[in-house]
Amino acid sequence: MNPQLLFWVPASLRLSIILIFAGVVGYFFGWSIGLATALVLMIALIVVQLNYLYLLSAWLDHPDSEKLPDGWGAWTDIFSRLYRLRRDDERNRAELTEWLARFRQAMSLLPDGVVIMDDVLFLEWCNPAAEKHLGLNNGRDKGMRVTNLIRNPDFIDYIILGRYEQPLTLSLKDRKLIVQIIPFENRRQILVTHDATESDRIEMMRRDFIANASHELRTPLTVINGFLEIAQGQPNLDPDVRMSHLNLMIEQGKRMQNLVEDMLTLTRLESIDYPLRPEHVNIGNLLRQILQEAEALSGGRHTISLTVEGPDIQGSTDELRSAFGNLVSNAVRYTPEGGRIDIKWQDLGHGPQFSVKDSGIGIRAEHIVRLTERFYRVDKSRSRETQGTGLGLAIVKHVLLRHGAVLAIESQPEMGSTFIVKFDNSVVDNDALGLLKNH
Ligand code: ADP
Repeated sequence: MNPQLLFWVPASLRLSIILIFAGVVGYFFGWSIGLATALVLMIALIVVQLNYLYLLSAWLDHPDSEKLPDGWGAWTDIFSRLYRLRRDDERNRAELTEWLARFRQAMSLLPDGVVIMDDVLFLEWCNPAAEKHLGLNNGRDKGMRVTNLIRNPDFIDYIILGRYEQPLTLSLKDRKLIVQIIPFENRRQILVTHDATESDRIEMMRRDFIANASHELRTPLTVINGFLEIAQGQPNLDPDVRMSHLNLMIEQGKRMQNLVEDMLTLTRLESIDYPLRPEHVNIGNLLRQILQEAEALSGGRHTISLTVEGPDIQGSTDELRSAFGNLVSNAVRYTPEGGRIDIKWQDLGHGPQFSVKDSGIGIRAEHIVRLTERFYRVDKSRSRETQGTGLGLAIVKHVLLRHGAVLAIESQPEMGSTFIVKFDNSVVDNDALGLLKNH
């Protein structure tokens, strides 16, 4: 029904009833009494309306604590509509609070820092990543000027110049940050920070790797080119000299081949497209092969022993051959003639372990932590003399990482070294253990 009618019809009905009632009283008791009755009833009506107005104003002051009465006449409708509005408002507010909480949670999980500032750079809010990157504190620093909180000359210059379309690279508290200011709304700006320390480190590692690899390849290439030029310029060279040149070229070629193979192995080990496919690894067979290769490399200059006491495991035979083989060949290469090398596979209770102990030249403590870095060598010339690429222990590290194993190095200069690979119990091949027991 038309809301206007809905309001006016009952209101006029109520007025008409008062007037009719006053008319009846006037008819029976005289018109002056009738008029007085009408006046009293009208005043009563106005008092009721005023009372409802008062109740409404009190409720508007404290909508949470006061309760609206059911009301009378048009007030019933007004009060119920107000109730409904209030309920909708509460629901909207609850939804908004929930959204805000979700937004805050998302912001706090963001790896990038977000700082919201007003147009004159006073801090309004920042997420935990921004607190970490810039050393801010959301509670303590709120309302303070960001340039007073981040006292870095490059940052201040960036603010002064105001060229916000370009990000700024900032070195702050041992971190490399990429910072950008984005104006939003009319009177607000967002400062976004991205921690580029790790990507920067990886980029530097990549550059170092390429520089090192090129350097490593350049030396043998220069040697080979030199001999080839001699061969070209002096066709009648003494056959013995020519033979020694050829031998040197073959040696350098082999060096390059080893290097390229090691680089390819490393790349493959690092590739996520090349996941580990565990298989049964017959440790006894594997280590006997490695022992044979070590004896061939040693050429009888060392005493080499092998002890196999631990269980077989699950893993990649090829990768483990490469890792164990590298450790054993290092022991041979860095142990002078007459030295001793003990290769052991044992289970000492907390998981199987592989160890190679040599009586070689040993390593000073400051080098030990860096040995698994690519191309890191304690003595470059010695490594090259023995066909080392400087990538052996980096390969070992990656293979062990893929097998959940860790490498421990115990060494002292002139006292020999022990390289220990500790595996977790979970790699033990229980099926193979069962087979062994049944036989
Ligand atoms: P390389 O091909 O030069 O041997 P590795 O990565 O295998 O490269 O080893 C890195 C360096 O660690 C070697 O250059 C050597 O200085 C040192 N090293 C490795 N194994 C031993 C060892 N058993 N005894 C002494 N030094 C070692």
